[in-house]
Amino acid sequence: MTSTAQRLAEIRGGKPPRRHNARTIAALTGNPGCDRRAVLDSAGADKPALAEQVGFPARFGQSRFAITRGNAFEAQVKADGGAELLRLVAERLGVDPGGPGTWTDLGADDRPGGPDQPDRAERSRAALAAAAPAARGRAHLPTGEAPTAEPQTGEAQTGDAPTSGEPAALFDHPLLSLDVAGRRVHLEPDLVAARLAGRFHVVEIKSFPVIDGQADPGKVAAAAVQSAVYVLALRELLAAEGHDPSLVSSDVVLVCPRDFANQPVASLVDVRKQLLVLRRQLDRMARVDDLLARVPANFTADPAADPDHLRRALSSVPARYAPDCLAACELAYFCRHEARAETTALGRPVREALGGVADVAEVLALAAGEHPGAPEQAEAAALLRAAARLRADALTGRPS
Ligand code: SF4
Repeated sequence: MTSTAQRLAEIRGGKPPRRHNARTIAALTGNPGCDRRAVLDSAGADKPALAEQVGFPARFGQSRFAITRGNAFEAQVKADGGAELLRLVAERLGVDPGGPGTWTDLGADDRPGGPDQPDRAERSRAALAAAAPAARGRAHLPTGEAPTAEPQTGEAQTGDAPTSGEPAALFDHPLLSLDVAGRRVHLEPDLVAARLAGRFHVVEIKSFPVIDGQADPGKVAAAAVQSAVYVLALRELLAAEGHDPSLVSSDVVLVCPRDFANQPVASLVDVRKQLLVLRRQLDRMARVDDLLARVPANFTADPAADPDHLRRALSSVPARYAPDCLAACELAYFCRHEARAETTALGRPVREALGGVADVAEVLALAAGEHPGAPEQAEAAALLRAAARLRADALTGRPS
């Protein structure tokens, strides 16, 4: 074991590292500047247990109802060998699928023992790499489009129709992998479509609805980052097999129920921006020695440690709490409590509206006119005093 691996093992108290998945990797991009999170995730620390032990348990996760509904919708969409799914995806890409297409369930022969079996990974590698040459030479990168995570449910995009006569191919349950902080993490996209518009497309099936062409922006953004994880892993797979990684489109296909019915609708989501952020954060975690150099030598994230000791240990590593953490990190309630005296805990728009003053007590003192503040705070102080006057007028019903 290297000294870095040894140090990371000590940080998590000698316990096995928590396994990452696409959701947890996607969450890494939520707050890329946070050292605390980067160290804990690099070590594979058990953050839910840690949050529980320090008295701030995490409160997010999918309900059983949502999981069941999601599974039922996915089964419906994938029925009949994906015939309707292929039609939807091809229509959205604006291409002719070149026939009924082929359907390969890469999980069909899986033996018990978990998703990281070499057999399935090897089957996925071989099948996806074999599908690549047919697409080679027709790859093109979309140009002139702004990176966006908005679903495009309007007119279908125009793409290259298959020219080789080979039918489109759909791969169900592929097993991909990616290096996260020196550990190989296995990933399971819902589906990969090949030979459509000459490229591979990651297809994600989500049960949140698209109503009048619009979906919940937060859910679309989360699906976009998760899909970017799969795009990156698929590009690495093809590159390792000697193929052009740009054969994997950065336009992922999101399939959701339309309006309030269970009819599926396909949308394109451009994940180029998410890919950049993801790559940057994974590179940062790969340089884990730089991170560890900023962490006290006795830092521990062992959930079995004394709660007071753990709270002090966590506080010794810099964090960057923002309200977005509540939806993405198990330590959010601990970090929010810790940052309660800082305006950053209220979110960037509020902090900016408060003139960028960092401390809540200082904001209140400036608003009350207790002191004029530093010269560079003069404008913020005047605005805060005016806001305090308006509030007092509103509460008393008469102008001051
Ligand atoms: S909740 Fe805390 S540890 Fe997690 S990302 Fe936010 S600031 Fe960092």
